[in-house]
Amino acid sequence: MAEASKKAFVTGHPIAHSRSPKIHAYWLAKYGIDGVYEAIDVAPEAFAEFLQTLQAQGYRGGNVTIPHKEAAFALVARRDDAAEQIGAVNTLWFEDGELCGGNTDAHGFAANLDEYAPGWAAANGPAVVLGAGGAARAVIHALKQRGVSDIRIVNRTLARAQELRDRFGAGVSAHGLAETGELLGVAGLLVNTTALGMHGNEGLSADPDRLPDRAIVTDIVYVPLETPLLAAAKARGLRTVDGLGMLLHQAVPGFERWFGIRPEVTAELRQMIIADIGAIK
Ligand code: NAP
Repeated sequence: MAEASKKAFVTGHPIAHSRSPKIHAYWLAKYGIDGVYEAIDVAPEAFAEFLQTLQAQGYRGGNVTIPHKEAAFALVARRDDAAEQIGAVNTLWFEDGELCGGNTDAHGFAANLDEYAPGWAAANGPAVVLGAGGAARAVIHALKQRGVSDIRIVNRTLARAQELRDRFGAGVSAHGLAETGELLGVAGLLVNTTALGMHGNEGLSADPDRLPDRAIVTDIVYVPLETPLLAAAKARGLRTVDGLGMLLHQAVPGFERWFGIRPEVTAELRQMIIADIGAIK
């Protein structure tokens, strides 16, 4: 059988849990593209060499996930603005023979809110971001890009929140957990980026009862789809947005670069991934 003409990948360590192959396979079939998207487990010590062999193996590029995002940032020849701001690369492609790196997580976050809470970025109070890890960086970049001028980061380890405040500058402040209740009282948007509420890590990171009625609540954790935070916010009558759309939308720019078509995030795709989450948590 002739080899498929267009090849891309996702690499991480481990990688078996990744839903990216299902997302890209759906689009390849939908648009009738002769291409493949493979999951490749690469150990950290082998990552640099893996990148060097990509072109020889016929890859047009791929996605990079935990724990390789920072290494990819350091190893690419060129980066897009989002990657520079976030300090991590999740999408690779070639331009003029050079390996380029971008970050599409911020795009995914904003596009998900655009779809399910249109007008979200309008000034209706500060944005409170729970967590100060890698995902929080992408969220903060997206918020700044969309003109949110008051971003309050709350983290268990205050020093990590302060690092992000220093990184992102004007309009960003850092807070410890003890301030959460007070911050919620004025928040227009609450974003959970901590692993709290993830399957096997139950627990509420903040009490939505303290939020104003106008607040929007989103959680970037999507296993379970309805986290304890979203359930409590919904029960309180607030607008909520789950984290699955971020995953789906962050995949769009990479697919377009490698396969030449800007794919659509359809209801059918979303249902397919929800079924997969239900089958294998
Ligand atoms: P990370 O870099 O490891 O950061 C984890 C964050 O969670 C840190 O702020 C950490 O606080 C906090 N945290 C963890 N356990 C906690 C606890 N028991 N109590 C209070 N805070 C706790 O992880 P990440 O890469 O940012 O990812 C975070 C989550 O986002 C993951 O669940 C991931 O699956 C999800 N995610 C979703 C998408 C999407 O497309 N929807 C994209 C990226 C990530 P400390 O600093 O104090 O440790």
